[in-house]
Amino acid sequence: MSEMNGVTTSRQRWKYLDRVLSRPGPFTDEDWVPGEEVISFLESAKVLVIGAGGLGCEILKNLALSGFKDIHVIDMDTIDVSNLNRQFLFRQSDVGKPKAEVAARFVERRVKGVKITPYCGRIQDKDEDYYMQFNMIICGLDSIEARRWINAMLVGMVDMENPESMKPLIDGGTEGFKGQARVILPTMTSCFECQLDMHAPRAAVPLCTLATIPRQPQHCIEWAHIIAWEEERKGDILDNDDPEHITWLYQKALARAKEFNISGVTYSLTQGVVKNIIPAIASTNAIIAASCCNEAFKIATNTNPYLGVPETANYMMYSGDDSIYTYTFEHQRKEDCPVCGNLAKDLEINARWTLQEFIDSLAERAEAQLKKPTLRTEKSSLYYQSPPALEEATRPNLRKKLFDLVSDGEEIAVSDPAFQIDFKFRLLFRDK
Ligand SMILES: [Zn+2]
Repeated sequence: MSEMNGVTTSRQRWKYLDRVLSRPGPFTDEDWVPGEEVISFLESAKVLVIGAGGLGCEILKNLALSGFKDIHVIDMDTIDVSNLNRQFLFRQSDVGKPKAEVAARFVERRVKGVKITPYCGRIQDKDEDYYMQFNMIICGLDSIEARRWINAMLVGMVDMENPESMKPLIDGGTEGFKGQARVILPTMTSCFECQLDMHAPRAAVPLCTLATIPRQPQHCIEWAHIIAWEEERKGDILDNDDPEHITWLYQKALARAKEFNISGVTYSLTQGVVKNIIPAIASTNAIIAASCCNEAFKIATNTNPYLGVPETANYMMYSGDDSIYTYTFEHQRKEDCPVCGNLAKDLEINARWTLQEFIDSLAERAEAQLKKPTLRTEKSSLYYQSPPALEEATRPNLRKKLFDLVSDGEEIAVSDPAFQIDFKFRLLFRDK
């Protein structure tokens, strides 16, 4: 055996993979033919990975070790020293270099025969022709905006006459000990936009809980942050980066925690809560990336049914903060999804709001999250963010009440520079 001298022959590495690909299994279809054809499809499949960070490093390594040989990766970031604890394709000497480039070269060195083509830049730099060349796309991103963009792009690319234009999108996401992996078949299954409410901003703890009955260390810290600071240091502007300020909050929170017999208040938790930092956890990234690559492998080889087949489960959520829990379910398409649906979404509004108040509410709504919207009705322009002349001309509308601008049940179109799509809303007046 060649293992004696530490060298593995090229096929040795794929021994277990070959077993899966060269004989039928309990989940393969009757007409599935194992062997050469499947292996060569896997090797020639073109896969795009978006993101070369915590999830991306795992995904690139997993794909290469699963037999994919033509991988592309996009990332706009450079390597920071704080990435090194989990983004294991990077070394101290790589700090400052582009992530996509370094990750690609590392995996190519370790897994002979794989080709990884990096692009250091934004996904928005690329057009439809570029995305059309891939068999599937895997996202390992932390930005919701970037995921909404690529989702809208892939839904928009689908041409019903050409089945090849439908590119499976595998999306992984993590937040601390929680994460999810999902497969989106654009226009066939629920899309990222349909599922946007799964990313609703986290509910704030009611002030009364903070003031009266804290139950968690975080409540004590929020109490120090919101109430104690205001009472005792009014006039001082809290600076999250000032160690004296954080120490003060930490000690206040610690004293309060003692009073209520709560443990767990630490300096770094205080910093995390005040700055709203969710720690990136290497094991969560590893689990979610593994799940995504498992789906990619199943889609490429048909060795097993994959997530996302219409009317079956398409969404796997994972929670690792209190033992280990996963739940896999079907997230259903929304007929009024602004990206893949046909209907305008009903939006209940207060007609006495000004247009500005309505725009502010669009930024907060979980299903919209639009920060710089341009709004128009069939008949008129309500507000344009640009060009400057149009902005100036429509600016007076911001102070007008909605009932002066639109009628009950009227449809408006909202666009936002961050997205390629128009959102259609039907405004319904509440408490007329
Ligand atoms: Zn949708």
